[in-house]
Parts: sequence; C-alpha cells; structure tokens
Amino acid sequence: MGIGLLIKSLGAFIELLLPEIMARIIDEAVPAKDMRQVLFLGIWMLVCSLLALWFNVIANRNASSTSRDITRRIRHDLFSHTLYLSCEKTDDYTIPSLDSRLTSDTYNVHQMLGMMQRMGIRAPIITLGGLTICFIMDTTLALVFLACIPFIAVLIYIRGAKGIPLYTDVQRAVDDMGGVVRENVQGIRIIKALSRTDYEKNRYQKVNTVLARRQVKAGLTMAIIQPGMNLFLYLGMAGVILYGAYRVNAGLSTAGTILAFLSYFTLMSKSMMALSRMFIMFSKGMASSKRIMEVLNTSTEQHWEKKDYPSSDSSYAIAFEDVSFSYLKVKDNLQHISFHLRPGETLGIIGATGSGKSTILSLLLRFYDADEGKIYIHGKDIRTMDPVKLRSMFGVVMQNDFLFAGSVAENVRFGRSVNDEEIEEALSLAQAGDFTGDMYRELTSKGTNLSGGQRQRVLLSRAFATKPEFLLLDDSSSALDYKTDASLRKTLETQFAKTTKIIIAQRVSSLQQCNTILVLDHGKIAGMGTHEQLLRTNKIYADIAASQMGGALFE
Ligand code: ADP
Ligand code: MG
Repeated sequence: MGIGLLIKSLGAFIELLLPEIMARIIDEAVPAKDMRQVLFLGIWMLVCSLLALWFNVIANRNASSTSRDITRRIRHDLFSHTLYLSCEKTDDYTIPSLDSRLTSDTYNVHQMLGMMQRMGIRAPIITLGGLTICFIMDTTLALVFLACIPFIAVLIYIRGAKGIPLYTDVQRAVDDMGGVVRENVQGIRIIKALSRTDYEKNRYQKVNTVLARRQVKAGLTMAIIQPGMNLFLYLGMAGVILYGAYRVNAGLSTAGTILAFLSYFTLMSKSMMALSRMFIMFSKGMASSKRIMEVLNTSTEQHWEKKDYPSSDSSYAIAFEDVSFSYLKVKDNLQHISFHLRPGETLGIIGATGSGKSTILSLLLRFYDADEGKIYIHGKDIRTMDPVKLRSMFGVVMQNDFLFAGSVAENVRFGRSVNDEEIEEALSLAQAGDFTGDMYRELTSKGTNLSGGQRQRVLLSRAFATKPEFLLLDDSSSALDYKTDASLRKTLETQFAKTTKIIIAQRVSSLQQCNTILVLDHGKIAGMGTHEQLLRTNKIYADIAASQMGGALFE
C-alpha cells in the first residue's frame, strides 16, 4: 500500500503542474508570439499528462490487488476466529449476524480499502496542492475560492458523523434479513408442508422493508453531501470568475492566471466530489470494520484454565457433581444434576423435549461451563483439561447433526486420520452395511438425499470410526426401525463393552439395558435407577413406558 500511495502521490503532483504550465503558455509564450516556447511547453504538458496517467494506472492496479489481499486475510482471520468462538458468544452474536459480518461487512471493507487507496491520497494532494499553487499565483483570488471550503468541511463532518451509526443500522437489518432467509432455506420443506408460504413471505417482506427503509435513511443523509458540495464549489467558482474579471480589467491579474485557476478549480472540484463519495464508502466501511473487529476482539473459547481444581475419585469415568446451568442466566436449564459412571457403563437419559438432555452433553463437551457444580473425567475437573484433547476423547452424535456435501466416506472420516477399512467397520457397526460397498456415494449438503434413518446411521459411523473412549449419542436412533435399533443396541453392548456411553433417547426400549437411567424433568432429576427400578418407583418413567409399550411391560 505504501508503494502504491507513493506512486499515486507522484502522479497527483505531476498532474498539478499542468494548469501552471498552461498559464505560462498563455501569459508568456503567446503574447511574445514565441512558437518554439509554445511547442516546448506543450510537449512538457503532454509528457506530464502521460506520466500522470501511467502512475495512476499502476497505483490503481496496486490498490486493487492490495485491497483484495487484505480483505482475503481479514475474511480468513474472521472465519477461523468465528470457528473458535465459544457457543455462548455464538449465541450472543447469532449465526446470521456472523454470516453477514463474513460476507457483506468484509465486502464493505474491501470497497473502502480500494477507494481509500485510489482517492484517499490523490484527492487531498490535488485539493491542497491546487490551493497552494493558486495562492502562489494570486493570493487575493485564491482567498475568494478558499471561502467556500469551510462550508464543505462542515457539511462533510456533520453528515459523516450521522452516517456511520446509520450504516451500522443498515448492517443490522442485513443480519435480520439473513436470518429469515437462512431459516426459510433450511426449513423450506416444513414451510411447504404446513402451507406457511404466505406467512413466511410476509415475514420476509417485513425485514426487507426495514432494510430498505434504513438504506433510504442512510442514503438520504449522505445524499445531501454531493449536491451541497457542488453548490458551494460553484459559488466559489462564480466568485473567482467575477472577481477575476475585475482584477484582469484593473491589471492586477492575467488571463492565464484566471484560466489556470479554472483548471485547478475543475481538478479540485472533481477530487472533492471523489472525497465525498469516499466519505460515504468510508462511513460504510468503518461501520462494517467495527462489526468485524468486535468479533475479532472477542476472546475465543474458554481457555485451558491453568488453575488447579481439586481432583476427585478417579475410578469414575464420568462424574457430574451437583451441576447447575442456565443459558441466559434467567431460568435454570439444569439444576443439581449428579451422576457417576464407571468405565464401560452406560447412562441413559430420557425426558420431555426441552428438559435439558442435550444440555448435559454440551456441558460435558465444555461447549458451556457449568454455573455451579463440577464435572470430572477420570477424576479430573474438565476445566483443567485442554478442550481439544477433552473433545477428542468423545465420539458424538448430536441431535440434528450435520452431514455435508461429499461422499459417505468423507462424512464418516470427517478430516480425521481414519482409513477405508476402519470406515467400513464403523459403517457395519452402525448397521449401515448397505453403504459399505458404496462408500463413495455422494451425499448432498445436510444429507438431504438420504432417509432419516440412513442419515442417523452415517452419523453413528462417524462417532464410531475413531473408537473413542466415550460415546455420546443424542437421540441418534430415533429414525431407525425397531429391528435396526435392537441390533444397534446389541452392537453397543458387545462391540463397545469397554466404552463409557451416554445415550439420550425418546424410546424406553432404547434404554432398557442401560446401567443407570436418568429421568429429567424441567432440568431436574426426577428419577434415577435401572429400567426395572424406575418402572416400579418413578411415575414419569412408568407413564412414558406405558404409552410406548401399551402396558405390556407391566405384565
Ligand atoms: P432437550 O435436549 O432435553 O430437548 P435441551 O437441553 O436442548 O433440551 O434444552 C434445554 C432448555 O434449554 C430448553 O428450554 C431450551 O429452550 C434451552 N436452550 C437450549 N439451547 C439453548 C441456547 N443455545 N440458548 C438458550 N437456551 C437454550
Ligand atoms: Mg435435545
């Protein structure tokens, strides 16, 4: 950028010489009828114009490439930073907002960088340099012209100060619109299925209107700058012509000077207009770069705390001790959760939607830190463990987990070092034997070309593939038919006997064999025990079982 700006400045200085040379032709060479002098100065003008043009082109090319490279880096940094944001922070920003920060905000910054380099140095040099030369040529006349500058400065300052917050509002509206678009694209099938198309159309129209209104407001605020500036500039020019004519008549100035003034005036007014356009771009770019910096300055994840939290009984693979947690710190999503799992044991979790089942897994994976209580793995407080190492111990299938566009094998491998045989094995363990011969079958994004059950089995294979020490399965067999579900349970029991497992399920039948089943109700433990114990002692569990098995189990 530095080199580019240097070349740009050179070009601008050379350009400033042109009217000055022209004034000499008119005032000195023409009256003297000195053709050689006219030709000599004329060639000088030509050389200077060509040089100015050439420097400008080089500098503009340089501006394009540097702003492209800078934005690419910003996008890269922002993207990787976004990936490392803690879940809490992601919730705060919201996904659509992060999305538009990565796309439209970086675009605005790109535009700003390019514009600033193309005009940011040239316009002030032309304006200030032009003024200086005017002063040297004819101070009184220059003062007339100078009188219009304060008005322009005030105009730009006042409007610009208003512009930045307005453009921040515009970007917020872009976030909201992104949110609606994202939901609609993702939920297109359900929207159609429930005939919600009109409703969604209205919802979109609303956010779209807000965006348009804010854009108009920002646009109107900034729109006054350019015509306002023109007005003052032309007033200045009229003043120069009137007063100049008077001075030439009085013999105080020359025709060449007036003509040079007018040329400088044209140059300056062009660059001031560019300055005003730059100012709009600058307001947008600054609003956007603030939004980008906000994310970049957000610290990523909980750091591996160096503090020595006391250890606990290391004979338990996983232990929750009196854990409470709330997402938004208003309502408790989990209260006083305690359980202990020995290596190889299986914990089942059952409970109504929203009772906090998935939240338990999020805390265990340290997506969030518990507000109270402690979580131990092999007796070590998880806050003392490196989150990356911690997570690599788990094979996880989340609720609504994600398949991306690519082959089955790639989805199972998920960028980890897992070879084809291991993938094949994982697929057959996950009862996805139908894929083993067809590992390179292409999936569409989110696995939309698979059935629900097929998706779940690919996801299970992904969790199985690394033979992790722990398996966390969140509602990962809900779409399987009973027979497949049963053979999956058998596999978990026999092939993963040494693996400590936490299984969340809606079906009592999926949890029967668990060593302990935890019944969650509104974030609290409503019962804990084996299937048989709970059937006898826990009303919630017995009710769920009865509704699913038609009371057959009581016999
Ligand atoms: P379950 O898995 O049992 O259906 P969850 O553990 O997903 O329930 O959610 C428990 C409660 O926490 C619900 O009331 C849900 O609305 C709330 N919740 C879940 N995730 C978030 C989040 N990221 N921000 C705020 N609240 C959340
Ligand atoms: Mg859940």
